[in-house]
Amino acid sequence: MISRKVIINAALSAGFDLVGVVRSEELTEERNRFNEWLLGGNASTLEYLSRNIEKRFDSRLLVEGSRSVIICAVSYLPPYAWDYDGGSVTKVASYALNRDYHVTIKEMLFSLAEQLRRVSPELRFRAFTDSAPLAEKSLARRAGIGWIGRNSLVVNPKLGSMMHLGELVIDEDVDEYDTPMEGVGCGSCRACVEACPNGAIRDDRTIDTRRCISCRTIEREADDHIPLHGWIFGCDICQSVCPFNRHAPMHANSKFDPILNPDMLSLENLDSMGDEEFRAVAGATPMMRAGLERLRRNARLNAREHLDR
Ligand code: SF4
Ligand code: SF4
Repeated sequence: MISRKVIINAALSAGFDLVGVVRSEELTEERNRFNEWLLGGNASTLEYLSRNIEKRFDSRLLVEGSRSVIICAVSYLPPYAWDYDGGSVTKVASYALNRDYHVTIKEMLFSLAEQLRRVSPELRFRAFTDSAPLAEKSLARRAGIGWIGRNSLVVNPKLGSMMHLGELVIDEDVDEYDTPMEGVGCGSCRACVEACPNGAIRDDRTIDTRRCISCRTIEREADDHIPLHGWIFGCDICQSVCPFNRHAPMHANSKFDPILNPDMLSLENLDSMGDEEFRAVAGATPMMRAGLERLRRNARLNAREHLDR
């Protein structure tokens, strides 16, 4: 059995801001709600969402021998919001201007695991960050990291929602488990719902991925007439209006300092750039996932949309 205190200290020294631990078990309520969301056709062409549902909501099915899940969070809140002018057709979500979080968070989780192995040498683990079918937002809520805001993201009262999550699924029990936060929530705020330019945020705190710019610019959905409002990768709108982000401190971990100035990605630059130059400019960021061609296509759609206005 590992001590929760040891886990918390190890996670903080690995660079995370928040950490909670829950028992590995079936998340029945959350799974039922997710199934209803899927039945409503909300996943659109994101077919992977309907695969491995049982594993997604029960870490014991995802990792054999799993006993506990450590959920870590780290802020990437930028030092300033990029001041895009109204006519910008190449806006990028803040997190995408940083080194790819899949890589950074995995490194931090491995550092955490290495520290835990010093007290428990036989420990077996698997590390995840937004990469496997694991209901990480539901786990984060259960572990007391925050609540699920109306925009469907985990909101922490001090750090807001601009956080990355990472999980370590371990095969040991922990002496004490965390519980959800109480007495916190969105209250009567509806800022994100009102600010979403495509009306993608539903009253039941789910997102209509068919209308969400973030999904439309990153995932490979068929082309349609959903406006991108100047974004070429992701969308920050529903987070930038959130009062909890407005009052949150800037990220503390320098691994989440921006490494790319979005001015490098003007429409002219994107059009003239070759693959090699794109790799040199954005190769370490999550934008590589979309690729140059997709960013160019999104920027052209935005330019056309801008002219039509
Ligand atoms: S990311 Fe943008 S489009 Fe998607 S729900 Fe938030 S504001 Fe709406
Ligand atoms: S903007 Fe308001 S409603 Fe939306 S997540 Fe933040 S607090 Fe909740």
